[in-house]
Formats: sequence, structure tokens, C-alpha cells
Amino acid sequence: MKKILVTGGCGFIGSCLIKKLLKNKFNFVLNIDALKKQSVKESLNEIQSFKNYNFKKIDITNFNRINSSINSFKPDLIFHLAAESHVDRSISSPTHFIKSNINGTLNILESLRVAKFWRNKKKFKLINISTDEVYGSLSKSEKSFNENNQFKPNSPYSSSKASSDLIARSYNKTFKIPIITTNCSNNYGPWQYPEKLIPVVILSCLKNKNIPIYGNGSNIRDWLYVEDHADALIKISNSNKVGNTYNIGGGKEVSNIEIVNKICEIMDHIYPAKKSYKNLISFVDDRLSHDFRYSVNINKIKKEFDFKPKYNFNRGLSKTINWYVKNSKWLLNKDK
Ligand code: NAD
Repeated sequence: MKKILVTGGCGFIGSCLIKKLLKNKFNFVLNIDALKKQSVKESLNEIQSFKNYNFKKIDITNFNRINSSINSFKPDLIFHLAAESHVDRSISSPTHFIKSNINGTLNILESLRVAKFWRNKKKFKLINISTDEVYGSLSKSEKSFNENNQFKPNSPYSSSKASSDLIARSYNKTFKIPIITTNCSNNYGPWQYPEKLIPVVILSCLKNKNIPIYGNGSNIRDWLYVEDHADALIKISNSNKVGNTYNIGGGKEVSNIEIVNKICEIMDHIYPAKKSYKNLISFVDDRLSHDFRYSVNINKIKKEFDFKPKYNFNRGLSKTINWYVKNSKWLLNKDK
């Protein structure tokens, strides 16, 4: 049995990853999550009774609890995803993000620095899951971020992730803890808590409420379907590329207004209302220091792992919207 610890496994990406990991009956997964408001633990209902799955409610900012769990479980592999992940909330409550994302990561690294168990495991690895937002913002004409770009984070969220990436780097260099960091672009797909753009827009359509768009909607993001992200993480975890960082992305840049228009068009088709949902679009004051464009160069992961997203954006978006409409009760409940 391969013992795998996933932190943040009740979140949008972590839960998708756990379901994929459990498809292999030789994996045993321990999920550690603080069950914050944005967690989506219902997404794991189908695997709750699996014998090779266990869950512990732990906040990783509590060193004693995370340390004793790591040392008693003695994982062969750790996927570290637990983090506060919403830029807007990091602007309204920065301290909380700094504590959770920096101190939380530090606690895991400190626990491993002192622990002996992993030193006898030849393939032990910590996969530190991070974001492309650490690189800052691009103009329309600038080249996509590659792994050698300087970190220039602009929000408390991205700076907390950049800090935790740098601390992870130093624990790899100094204490030889086998770590690989991944910096992924915006994810979308089923089970995303409705504080992020795509579920927010669908929810607004379902409630026939204004669809808020920051500024003039020209901000650009690079989108990746969540299952493609999880597949990439599993591929990377099976490698011996410790000490490396990898960008992961979908290679599809879309502006916010384009996405919102596309969602409205699909909603008009599958869940028609009296008027087109486009009538609900409403431009609101821009986010403070709103990054204009994210775009990641994925040549490294393509070359070393033969990574290619399975979902193109149109297919992934249509599948996602259909899922939310089918699960509208869940989505509407999450909004309460
Ligand atoms: P999410 O907000 O959906 O889930 C995060 C999970 O972590 C939640 O279940 C929450 O309860 C848990 N958590 C938060 N703080 C914790 C703490 N202190 N202790 C224990 N558990 C805690 O986030 P997500 O979108 O699934 O993102 C997962 C990771 O991937 C994050 O590290 C994020 O920075 C990174 N990431 C996300 C995206 C994206 O587009 N969503 C893109 C790139 C990278």
C-alpha cells in the first residue's frame, strides 16, 4: 500500500485528486482538512465508506496536531493543497491568509525536518501545490510566465503562496526534504465553491440576479479543467524530479467578459429564461490591484511529462455548466 497524505482534500481540487487516487486500490489516502466554509466535503460522499480512505479534521496551523498525524501515519507521499484560496477574501482579511498559508506550510515542513521516517523511504515526496499568481501580472504583449520568472505577487493571497513556495524551496535545499512545487493556472469544474468566477456566474443566472464583473471585464486568465490538474499532479508525484518546479496550465487564455458571455450563451441554451442571461451582466468597481493577465508557459511539463490537457476549454466549460445546472440544489444551498 502507498500511504498518501492529502491536505485540503475537502476542497475543490483536493477532492478531485483524492477520487482519482482512490481509483488505484493500492493507494491509502489520509485526508486532512479544517473543513472551512469553502470546503466541499459532500463531493467525497461516494468514497466515505472506502476502506483505503480516512479523514481527520485538523487545522494545519496547529503544529502539534499536524505533527502527530504526520508522524503516526508516516506517509510515502504528501500532496499539500490546504490553503485559503480566494483573492477577494485575502483583501478583506489578509492576516488570516498569511497565517493559514505560510504558517500552515511551515508546520508541515518543520514536522518533516525533524521526522526520521521519510529518510528510509527512497521515493518519499512532498508535492507543494501552488498558483501562477505568484508571478504577478502580465500585460497583453508580455510573454507567458515560465518557471524562471521572478515572483512578483500582488495580493495577500498570492504573496502568501509565494512565501510558502520559497520556504518549501529552502527546506528542499537546506534540509534535503524531497519537494516538488507546482504553479497552476485558474482551475474550473464541478464542486467549486461559489466564490470563484464560474460558479458565481452560474449561480447568478439560476437566481436571476445581477452577474457582477470587475472593471470592464478585460482581465485575462489561463484556464485548466480541474481533472487535468489532478492528472498532472499524479504524474509529477510518480517522478524523481525533486527540487523542481512546474507550471501547469490549459494554454487557453480567456477574458472574464468572454467567459461570462459564453456561460450566458450555454445557460440560454440549456436552462432558458424569458430573456437572455446576458441582460444580467453588471460591471462593478474593480478589485484592488487587480492582476490584468495570467498566462503560463507549460513547455517544461509538456517536455518532461508529456502533459497535455484532455479537456479543451469549450468542452470543459460546457460539461461544468451542465453539472452545476444538474446540481443546482447543491449550488443554491452553498450560497446560504
Ligand atoms: P479550496 O478553497 O476549494 O479548498 C481549500 C481546502 O483547504 C478547503 O477544504 C479548506 O477547508 C482547506 N483549508 C484551508 N485552510 C486550511 C488549514 N489551515 N488547515 C486545514 N485545511 C485548510 O481551494 P482549491 O481551489 O481546491 O485550491 C487548493 C490548492 O490549490 C490551494 O493551495 C490553492 O492555492 C491552489 N490552487 C488553486 C487554483 C484554483 O484555481 N482553484 C489554481 C492554482 C492553485
